[in-house]
Amino acid sequence: MKLSAQKIIRLSKRYAMLASPLKTKQCCLCGHKVAGFLAHAGGWKKAPQLMTALKMVGSDIDHFACPVCYSHDRERHQWLYWQAAGLLPRMHGAHILHFAPEQHLAQRVAAQQPATYIKADLYPNAADIQKVDLLQMPFTDDQFNFLIANHVMEHVANVSQALAEIWRVLKPGGWAILQTPYCATLQHTWEDAGIQSTTQRLAAYGQEDHVRLFGQDIFTRIEAIGFSSLVTTHNELLPNTSSKKYGVNLNEPFMLFRK
Ligand SMILES: [Zn+2]
Repeated sequence: MKLSAQKIIRLSKRYAMLASPLKTKQCCLCGHKVAGFLAHAGGWKKAPQLMTALKMVGSDIDHFACPVCYSHDRERHQWLYWQAAGLLPRMHGAHILHFAPEQHLAQRVAAQQPATYIKADLYPNAADIQKVDLLQMPFTDDQFNFLIANHVMEHVANVSQALAEIWRVLKPGGWAILQTPYCATLQHTWEDAGIQSTTQRLAAYGQEDHVRLFGQDIFTRIEAIGFSSLVTTHNELLPNTSSKKYGVNLNEPFMLFRK
């Protein structure tokens, strides 16, 4: 097997972190004390200029992957948020639909013993994940107590249609976790059908497979469907949890909504 230079650098950084005696950080998912978290794609200094100029709020790409379990910062933050918001007991006996299910989070959802737990993706990569188009879901109205879509909305072709579908399949009182990267400096979500190639999408939206750059109107667009906003900041929900220690983005709010 031939390793690329990038992969060799990443592996050596990982081993240096694992070997370091100075382990002041901790992964909340595997529990290991670690010297730091691995950057994603070179971190912010390699990120598209537009994203840093507009102060994009999303993954902390400088402190991204746990060197032990490879959990991503956005999974770790969700896990801290779910516990702090008291969502876990509510998952027991509930009907749960989880889009693009992250492995570490999926294990923890299943551990709450929901009544049904459907893992879904437009492009499933495992046998236990059902192929589902978020824009046209094969589920009845008012079917689920929870719909989890962590970093999904920036990939879907039509936000309004996706939100209408999410509203439809949730029971009244159901919870929607719609975590998504956005730019608080942008008043309006920006998308343009002319931006098609991976190079254009990376430059304009921050990632090759994103199809828009959400602005601060993402919150009002979700509320306009009828959802109540339960969005909270890290400092409100996790006042005693150091974002640096756990490798999560202090500026990323918890994007929780209720039907
Ligand atoms: Zn870990």
